[in-house]
Amino acid sequence: MAKNSQAIQAVRGMHDVLPEQTPLWQYVEQSIRDVLSAYSYKEIRLPIVEKTELFKRSIGEVTDIVEKEMYTFDDRNGDSLTLRPEGTAGCLRACLEHGLLHNQIHRLWYLGPMFRHERPQKGRYRQFYQLGVETYGMAGADIDAEIILLGERLWHKLGIHDKLELQLNSLGTTEERAVYRDKLVEYFKAHIEQLDEDSLRRLESNPLRILDTKNPAMKALVENAPSLMDYLGEDSKSHFQTLTDSLDALGVKYRLNTRLVRGLDYYGKTVFEWVTDELGAQGTVCAGGRYDGLIEQLGGKNNHAIGFALGMERLLSLVELLSDVSVARTVDVYMIRVGSEAEKQGLIFAEQVRDQIPPLKLQVNCNAGSFKSQFKKADKSGAPFAIIIGEDEAENKNVSVKFLREQQPQQTLSYTAAIEFLQTQIGVQ
Ligand code: ATP
Ligand code: MG
Repeated sequence: MAKNSQAIQAVRGMHDVLPEQTPLWQYVEQSIRDVLSAYSYKEIRLPIVEKTELFKRSIGEVTDIVEKEMYTFDDRNGDSLTLRPEGTAGCLRACLEHGLLHNQIHRLWYLGPMFRHERPQKGRYRQFYQLGVETYGMAGADIDAEIILLGERLWHKLGIHDKLELQLNSLGTTEERAVYRDKLVEYFKAHIEQLDEDSLRRLESNPLRILDTKNPAMKALVENAPSLMDYLGEDSKSHFQTLTDSLDALGVKYRLNTRLVRGLDYYGKTVFEWVTDELGAQGTVCAGGRYDGLIEQLGGKNNHAIGFALGMERLLSLVELLSDVSVARTVDVYMIRVGSEAEKQGLIFAEQVRDQIPPLKLQVNCNAGSFKSQFKKADKSGAPFAIIIGEDEAENKNVSVKFLREQQPQQTLSYTAAIEFLQTQIGVQ
């Protein structure tokens, strides 16, 4: 084979969602939309490409994302652009640009692909999908509780709530973190021989992230480190207390994880993750927190924001693993046509069916074929019924209806009677 005729493959870590998988995606996406609508959240659609500067300024230079995971390239005019690695920055950029944050409150969501150059493995891809939920303009802990309840409701709807643990922490204010940071650096310096290479680097740039280490050898060291909870001021403490009181009142279970710091720098006060141990190392399905400070960092006025991002692939793996969702079939009726007059009549009848029963999923056999081969395709389609139009039916302007999954006699019916039959027989899904 000539070299240039070799098949081209997808980029490593970037996956196709094949037709057999899309019904599950659609089911989960619809469940998400239903829950978001029950809380009156609105969708926002954002560009996939943003100026590189946006991510550098928001996510922070010394984070995994900006240091090594971004897909950055020069536009033809020399501007540095980046495929979005996450949605928070772009959402805030859009809201600032369109003046949506001026004395207003917003509850927003978006769903789409994100890009990070990471080592591909189960639950970690280079193109992956996130649902992002962002709220603006609300300072109180009640909105923190609301977005947690929204997540909890979604897990219930999808039948996976038993396997997700809510972990909660408070990161306090910038000032409180600064005091804590010094204590933490002091502690780690006293045990410097136990730090791995990554942690040594973070010790100067971003020591809180050492707490986020995935290195088991450092587990004990991290567990014995000072806790940020002990450095919170009154306001941060009471915010956290109000949140946990609400969750208690609503029966939402959570675990306090004082080592939860999140990968990104812009969080303060409430942070949380929903974690499962069903998916191996990539166990965080959903992560979020309050990021009031980011708004000023991106040129806005002092304001309030809290949100979360949910990894769709991890969510889908969990749903597939745990929940017995039966995804709607894609074909209700398969139409078999043999002969040129039958082909014409069939098309006319098919359009009448679609006029009269819009939700019915009707697949018309195209590309001819014998009765036998068309029946095979009908069977494979999963449809419970076949409509058959042969020479006789075409001549008499009627159709035969056959049960494909049940022992029942075949019937020959007028167009009107056949439409009535389909209307009553098929629980249109
Ligand atoms: P991790 O610690 O697993 O790298 P993260 O802190 O980088 O996660 P966030 O930026 O908080 O992740 O993104 C929110 C969610 O998006 C994650 O909890 C996860 O479910 C999902 N996610 C993040 N990166 C990837 C990826 N490369 N592939 C698939 N899903 C991802
Ligand atoms: Mg990451």
